[in-house]
Amino acid sequence: MTRTLLRSAAFLDVAAGEIVHDDVLIDGDVIGSGTQADETVDCRGTLLVPGFIDCHTHVALTQALGNDSIDLPRSVRPLSAVPVLRTLLGLGVTTVRDAWGADAGLRLAVERGWIDGPQLLISLRQVCTTGGIGDHWTPATGPYNGYSDPSMPNPVFDGPDGARAAVRRMVQAGADWIKATITGSIVAGTGVHDVQFTPEEMQALVSEAASRRRNVMVHAHGARGAELAARCGARSIEHGVYLDEAAVAAMVEHDTYYVPTLSAKGSPEHLRSVRLALEAGVPIAMGSDNPVTPHANVLNEITLLAQAGLGSVGALRAATLNAAQLLQLDDRGEIAVGKRADLVLLDGDDLAVDNLASRIKAVWRNGKRFR
Ligand SMILES: [Zn+2]
Repeated sequence: MTRTLLRSAAFLDVAAGEIVHDDVLIDGDVIGSGTQADETVDCRGTLLVPGFIDCHTHVALTQALGNDSIDLPRSVRPLSAVPVLRTLLGLGVTTVRDAWGADAGLRLAVERGWIDGPQLLISLRQVCTTGGIGDHWTPATGPYNGYSDPSMPNPVFDGPDGARAAVRRMVQAGADWIKATITGSIVAGTGVHDVQFTPEEMQALVSEAASRRRNVMVHAHGARGAELAARCGARSIEHGVYLDEAAVAAMVEHDTYYVPTLSAKGSPEHLRSVRLALEAGVPIAMGSDNPVTPHANVLNEITLLAQAGLGSVGALRAATLNAAQLLQLDDRGEIAVGKRADLVLLDGDDLAVDNLASRIKAVWRNGKRFR
């Protein structure tokens, strides 16, 4: 096991929001203590932060691939994720939650070290009721399975029993998270304020997921969908463009996280939702929702969160500690003895977050230096 001493580091204590000046020891795959080391990195003039965590991305959907991948061989989709994962890790993103599109084979390939990338948590597909945004259907064909791939199960259900069965299909195929869509999408332009699950369906999703030690992340734009999802125990609300006071109150009451995904051009309503959530004390975690912008722009989401009212430290916390807490990964998200050595070394010791990508000097994932 290699021990690397990051000498004279200025590192961010994410919880306290303060810069601490001390040496940091990478001891194998965790942060250790002491100064005995095999190698030393001089960290004067830099800032060390925890590895970034993107709680909402789509690594197997790229702008290069487009939405029309159904005419392409199956192998294209996961292979298109290979350069994406490498790009993300090079930008200091050491953990991602994929919000649909990545299959269990991609996760395995990263775990085995066949490809470089962040640790990948997957949801496979977005479960929805008939006509929801995960229901692929055209007037010409009726329902069609764009994946034709047993490793990406059918996400469409109706009724509480159907909801339980949909969760079971996803868990069977290896989902770490259940992704559900309770409203329509801005992209599709319809149903953004509709509530597309009954309370019984939403409850069934959460309770079946919980019995399999999974949590549910819920795509919600309209306030009533977000409120219902929070009341039924969804772990996080994704996007939440049109939140209102009642929705954020329900999120506070039920310890629901908010992943605003501002990279898709935050509208005035969206920014108002972030302010409402902040004022109410809803914990906010970073999620880019890329490829709404190219994956190489992932760190812009941190800038946008800072500008939306979180400030630099709040935005860095959203991308590290808050994200780890949302994902219930208590081994990461801050720089402390015993935590995973997921670390990013930034050029310059200031906390500004407007130019993070150009400041990256080194990235460690699990104690292994990638860049
Ligand atoms: Zn998404």
